[in-house]
Amino acid sequence: MRYQTGPAALSHASSICNATSDCRYVTVMFRGLSRFLRTNPVSVQRSMSHSSLDGKVAIVTASTDGIGLAAAQALGKRGAHVVVSSRRQANVDKAVALLKSQSIRVTGTTCNVGKGEDREKLVQLTVDQCGGIDILVSNAAVNPFFGNILDSTEDVWDKILSVNVKAAFLLTKLVVPHMEKRGGGNVIFVSSVGGYQPMQGLGPYCVSKTALLGLTRALAPELAHSNIRVNCVAPGVIKTRFSSALWENKDVVDELKKQLSIKRLGEPEEIGGTIAFLCSDDASYITGETVTVTGGMSCRL
Ligand code: NAP
Repeated sequence: MRYQTGPAALSHASSICNATSDCRYVTVMFRGLSRFLRTNPVSVQRSMSHSSLDGKVAIVTASTDGIGLAAAQALGKRGAHVVVSSRRQANVDKAVALLKSQSIRVTGTTCNVGKGEDREKLVQLTVDQCGGIDILVSNAAVNPFFGNILDSTEDVWDKILSVNVKAAFLLTKLVVPHMEKRGGGNVIFVSSVGGYQPMQGLGPYCVSKTALLGLTRALAPELAHSNIRVNCVAPGVIKTRFSSALWENKDVVDELKKQLSIKRLGEPEEIGGTIAFLCSDDASYITGETVTVTGGMSCRL
């Protein structure tokens, strides 16, 4: 919401009141407001638009489905121009069409975050088409292995650590200079409740998610000098394709629910909203944190 200030506001106020004593009160009130706006620009800006992301440009990786798509929607609905991507062009096209239908400003491209040239293309395209970068949501992850951790191979570890951890760091490194040009920004990593308590059968994946908690804490103090906040979200079990093996099995769901205070699985939108909050001025004093969004599952390292 934009307010007129100074003489423009005063003349507007005068035009809407009659030449009565009411008018004097209105004029005095607007003089006070005008003085307040001049002397408290920061507090006024915060109270008027603290959750708005108007004018911001946000890259969200792996954003054509699930949590990434919900994050793009949440950021876009708050005014950000979102850049969505994933490996498959058809998925990108579908996500772009959906977001456009919701009046969200959106640009789409393919990007497999595990490939250096794709990461560079994503960043360059964003700068060329959107004029800069304010927000990075590093959401992509893979899990090519299910079983006892001692049965996992070097190839499995290389793949998981390369996509889930190394690519998250390298993409951050690519966007930081562009955020610095804008005077600051926000980086969000998407970890998992499994980063706190490894789930059976998902050892290497869960270890990669623990690494993101460490990456968040390692980056936050360094990037604070550039006015860039670094935070992390650790979802519990959220109903997406990625977790379908869990929630399609009633026995597993019943077992999971015993660990939940809120007796249902999470929805992608509940993670998207948390991500948008962390990127907004509402969270201006939060950095280096991981927010668990788990329906009350216990999370401790
Ligand atoms: P999802 O619904 O299955 O969506 C996965 C998205 O990632 C798709 O858009 C897919 O599109 C894209 N993608 C996959 N591999 C990619 C790659 N290498 N590069 C770029 N994009 C890629 O998954 P999700 O549940 O939303 O998971 C998103 C994040 O949340 C992951 O980091 C996951 O670890 C985390 N998480 C999920 C849960 C849960 O319960 N769902 C819980 C905790 C944490 P393409 O196929 O077109 O590439």
